[in-house]
Amino acid sequence: MSNISSKTKVYSVIGHPVSQSFSPKIHNYLFEKYGIDAVYVSYDVDPDHVGEAINGIRHLGIMGTNVTIPHKIEVMKYLDEIDEKAKLFGAVNTIKNVDGKLYGYNTDGTGLTKSLKDASGETMDGKRVLIIGAGGACRSIAIQLAIENAASIEIVNRSIEKAQSIVDTINEHFDTKAIATSKVITQKNIDDVDVLINTTPIGMGTDESPIDTSLVPPKNMIIADAVYKPHETAFIKWGLKHDLKIAYGIQMLINQGVHSFSIWTGVTPTLEDTQNILKIFLEEQKENK
Ligand code: NAP
Repeated sequence: MSNISSKTKVYSVIGHPVSQSFSPKIHNYLFEKYGIDAVYVSYDVDPDHVGEAINGIRHLGIMGTNVTIPHKIEVMKYLDEIDEKAKLFGAVNTIKNVDGKLYGYNTDGTGLTKSLKDASGETMDGKRVLIIGAGGACRSIAIQLAIENAASIEIVNRSIEKAQSIVDTINEHFDTKAIATSKVITQKNIDDVDVLINTTPIGMGTDESPIDTSLVPPKNMIIADAVYKPHETAFIKWGLKHDLKIAYGIQMLINQGVHSFSIWTGVTPTLEDTQNILKIFLEEQKENK
């Protein structure tokens, strides 16, 4: 930080609220590690002034920004070009500024699938997937899994409409067979599942689980939780008890950040980098207890 000069580039995250964001830790670690003269800061942007904030990014020469809740959809109308995948996701979480032209991307889906691949050593090709929840996180994760050729995706949500809309997009554009349901998950429902993902906020700050923890998972099942506070949710503890391969919520967050970093800089961070960033997160959690 003491080396900041008039040549230092600025990157950011915009959201509302944003003070809790872990993204500055991810990117400032990576800028330092790769010797890039840049700094990453956070901006709390009022939902009524998203357009002005995006114009600020353009004219202040902020090189890139992440976009978090609640601005991921709203920012789209202020960008010059949006990547095809982000269009399908219906949301942008990464903006790159190239000489005042703003390009939109979305790295949320790859953040999760990279975590699944790191945890299991397997690709998502041919996998039978069950996703709980049907909000923004589910939409990007489910479509990314279809892009990576999952065999089937079932989306279970308490209300069916949002799940059905994601399923319709998948069935229209990909070979993956997708269905939407709003049932209670039983033993029979998970017996044939390879990958089980929680995308509801259930478990955030509580010890509730999105599924009945007396169910017994198939022994090769891979699970992922989008929730990352606490690090070990009740759902993750269920996976640990059954010795499953586990992608933690924080790994999704770190991997989406790492992918944004690659879009901005052309540098591909290593698995060791993500492990070091995870250590920073866990230290921070310990200090905040
Ligand atoms: P969202 O758009 O609000 O969607 C939440 C979904 O969960 C909806 O389908 C909702 O059902 C369902 N849901 C909410 N509360 C529920 C409950 N008590 N019981 C059953 N279903 C419930 O949120 P999101 O943006 O998808 O985010 C979901 C979670 O993922 C949040 O905890 C968020 O922090 C986390 N997340 C993590 C990452 C990461 O990098 N790790 C990235 C993105 C999001 P209805 O449709 O019926 O309302």
